[in-house]
Amino acid sequence: MMKKATMKKEIGYTVDLTKIDGDGAFPCPKCGAMISPDDETEETYHIVETKVKNDELAELVLSCKKCGSVIKLVGFLAQPRK
Ligand SMILES: [Zn+2]
Repeated sequence: MMKKATMKKEIGYTVDLTKIDGDGAFPCPKCGAMISPDDETEETYHIVETKVKNDELAELVLSCKKCGSVIKLVGFLAQPRK
């Protein structure tokens, strides 16, 4: 029997923004495509889910458009305000 691939979105990777230097851009853990959360054109990624806590972004789940990996971003609240 053939195993059918499911389209279920499962979190493949978790990226902690507090461990990233610079403007928050990071390479996709799978294919290396640069993903910038500040890039609102969604050219390189697609936002799957956002979680807001106390009116602030707490978690962001996105999928890389290049390889389809689902990546969870955490650490927003720990970032100092500028
Ligand atoms: Zn990717």
